[in-house]
Amino acid sequence: MLKMEHIAKVFRTDTVATHALRDFSLHVKAGEFVSVTGPSGAGKTTFLNIAGLLEPFDGGSYQLDGISVHGLSDSQRSKLRNEKIGFIFQGFNLIPDLNIFDNVDVPLRYRGFGRAERKHRIEDALAKVGLSARAKHLPSQLSGGQQQRAAIARALAGEPAFLLADEPTGNLDTMMARQVMELLEQINTQGTTIVMVTHDPELARRAQRNIQIVDGEVADLTLRQAV
Ligand code: ADP
Ligand code: ADP
Repeated sequence: MLKMEHIAKVFRTDTVATHALRDFSLHVKAGEFVSVTGPSGAGKTTFLNIAGLLEPFDGGSYQLDGISVHGLSDSQRSKLRNEKIGFIFQGFNLIPDLNIFDNVDVPLRYRGFGRAERKHRIEDALAKVGLSARAKHLPSQLSGGQQQRAAIARALAGEPAFLLADEPTGNLDTMMARQVMELLEQINTQGTTIVMVTHDPELARRAQRNIQIVDGEVADLTLRQAV
């Protein structure tokens, strides 16, 4: 599913070059649930941004679902991202003046699905996260846990093979964090590959595999390979 070999990523300003990732290698198999931990500034977000085709890299190779990312044009890369990848963020990133139904609709409109197909996908995704009754609510009318579930519905509506989550429970209390984790586990059981960055050791342990990023590298070499 995800195959990164010797990825390097350097951020340059006028005076400094920051090696955010150096010789970063990781394989994730289809169907895995991998948690990613590590100290602040270690390169976790940079890894997710590269994995999600949001950010170019400076060296090494990355294959997503057998497709080599390196040679793709911008439009091919966007297409691959929209078809294969769903994103979940710590801050939910819902549009405040759109109701939940319309929020879930945003990426579907972007991809050009017809009206009936969109309605079907939105209702399906909201049912999966238990928010069917909240479709007409604005994000501000929902609790934090419900907002994150709405964001998960938005990611799921595109039927991604691969879900990338950046601190998805970071803004939630313990109970709501557990509920969101249970939802992610359920989604994983239904076949979606998940990579989740988290600071929460309990949630990190619950994933099938935990990798630690330290100084832009996977800390334990034996963990780079899918098991
Ligand atoms: P983490 O998510 O583990 O906290 P990041 O991936 O955000 O780490 O950052 C890794 C390193 O790259 C840090 O030293 C950070 O300051 C640097 N970095 C991240 N993004 C940029 C950027 N856009 N410009 C310059 N440096 C950056
Ligand atoms: P939780 O108990 O999950 O933290 P709240 O106590 O914030 O959630 O809200 C309880 C219920 O009331 C939730 O199902 C939420 O959707 C609903 N709710 C909260 N605020 C509003 C609102 N302003 N308008 C409509 N429904 C609301």
